Amino acid sequence: MDEFDLIARYFSGHDKDDGVVVGVGDDGALLAPTPGVMQVQVIDTIVEHVHFPASIGPEDIGYRVVAVNVSDIAAMGATPRWMTLALTLSGQDEQWVAAFARGLFAAAAPWNIALVGGDTTSGSTMVATVHMTGEVEADKALLRSGARPGDTVFVTGTVGDAAAGLSLIESGDDDSELVARFLRPTPRVSTGLLLAGRASAAIDVSDGLAGDLAKLLAASGVGADIDIERIPQSAALRARFTPADCERFALTGGDDYELCFTANPARVAGVPGVTPIGVVTETAGLVCRRDGRIVDVDDAGYRHFA
Ligand code: ADP
Ligand code: MG
Repeated sequence: MDEFDLIARYFSGHDKDDGVVVGVGDDGALLAPTPGVMQVQVIDTIVEHVHFPASIGPEDIGYRVVAVNVSDIAAMGATPRWMTLALTLSGQDEQWVAAFARGLFAAAAPWNIALVGGDTTSGSTMVATVHMTGEVEADKALLRSGARPGDTVFVTGTVGDAAAGLSLIESGDDDSELVARFLRPTPRVSTGLLLAGRASAAIDVSDGLAGDLAKLLAASGVGADIDIERIPQSAALRARFTPADCERFALTGGDDYELCFTANPARVAGVPGVTPIGVVTETAGLVCRRDGRIVDVDDAGYRHFA
């Protein structure tokens, strides 16, 4: 199959959307943005062997390259709308492409994200890049820079599961719930939309809660004081790992694609599935406490992030 057959068979016909005037097939896509709103532009790349254990299949790769972009859109408080795909194949067969496309569209389906164009090439390494556009009302976008002293620090869902799942995959072990959290993350779009215009700052948890919160705090020019025991951990995580491992995964494990945000709690009352874990302070840096006592992050074996 040549690239034109691949595009026609696997990447066409998923561009039906109110805002798509011209989709796949012309020199460029022609899009009609919703009047008066801002666009959010995000992009993420997956490189064979670098971002994924070799054992992970094409369907999960396709799912993930979309989900990580959706998560960035969610962290801006925006609605995902359109995407393009740059795919470099290094000898993958048609079956691989079919599975990749299945995963890609499975991740896009919950939000009807249209694939409006792309580029298909061959090269020495498989590389998949998705560029995505979202929309948000200008004054409602969630930035990293809006946290203020006195705000509460929140996190959605539970954290640590994906890193625990990855560790199980790497050790040839299994636990379907934890592994699924790594392979099939659920970006928090609906929560992001509820938080838009209400939370003071937000970031998605891709590198680990402590590190990502530290980025938010630095962007806002503030600090925070959080209680480790309030960080939400899943029953699946606690059932499988020691309390110390759970804590390490929850604080420093990546790939959860939950949202960490700051807000005046009264402004986000009623938003489901969020847990307060601490407070924003004036002094720069992140202070983590266990049972009220400051944890020396270096002694605890954590990456130094303060
Ligand atoms: P051009 O040579 O003008 O760049 P291409 O032959 O590369 O055009 O692509 C033809 C059409 O197919 C374009 O609309 C392009 O956006 C689309 N396309 C190419 N690859 C992909 C892909 N992997 N997924 C979706 N659309 C694609
Ligand atoms: Mg091209």
